Amino acid sequence: MKSIFKILSLGLISVSSPSFAQQTSTSEKLWQGKQAAVVLTYDDALNVHLDNVIPALEASGLKGTFYLSAFFDGSKNRLEDWKKAGEFGHELGNHTLYHPCDASLPGRTWVSPDNDLHKYTTAQILKEIRMTNVFLESLDGQKERTFAYTCGDTATGEGSFMEEIKDDFVASRGVRGALNSIGNINLLNVDSYGINGETGEELIQLVKEAQEKNALITFLFHGVGGEHDLNVSLEAHQILLDYLEENKDTIWTTTMLEAAKHVKEHQD
Ligand SMILES: [Zn+2]
Repeated sequence: MKSIFKILSLGLISVSSPSFAQQTSTSEKLWQGKQAAVVLTYDDALNVHLDNVIPALEASGLKGTFYLSAFFDGSKNRLEDWKKAGEFGHELGNHTLYHPCDASLPGRTWVSPDNDLHKYTTAQILKEIRMTNVFLESLDGQKERTFAYTCGDTATGEGSFMEEIKDDFVASRGVRGALNSIGNINLLNVDSYGINGETGEELIQLVKEAQEKNALITFLFHGVGGEHDLNVSLEAHQILLDYLEENKDTIWTTTMLEAAKHVKEHQD
């Protein structure tokens, strides 16, 4: 009787204690012990990113991820400024050399024939993407970074290239707006909310939802105070930054690279 009791209690201990330990360490480690992770991404190498966004981020003690298309004017004309952004700890992300998009999709009449991703071979886009990594490394000296699909497009005329670039990047960002818990994040196509005209309060509301769900939220900005059809006002952007700064004890605002490394570690 005594020995049966002993076996039963040992059994209980061996079943309950590892799962309890696992739960404790998981909740402590998740998002650096905070409720949610926020990643601020800015696409297309706009001058306003250098002139408006980076000074605002620096004043709030926050880091962002800037997806550069290397041949865009705001990239090639401002190399020294992007070098400084890299030195400040912002991520310079890969958004291809020329920003090709699939002209065969609806609403893509603006895509010029020479920039039609649907007419690219997969070998062509891979060369373009890898050359952009060389360009970015010459600016920031980094070997690790993330990618953002141009127009969210993940395929050439030959099919998907998502798997082909998975060893070139820690993660690749897409354009579907959704919140995901850490186990459900697809690092080959990370969801993001495309921002266009939202108020500061609306942006904060998205972060609050992420906090409630212990999720990652990624913002996708283009214009901030102008320079792009997809735009958010400087005021709304600042209201979001103020909220993130005021709540830094419960919100982990970081680069896509750092967030993705954290997700990868957790998923592995
Ligand atoms: Zn873009």
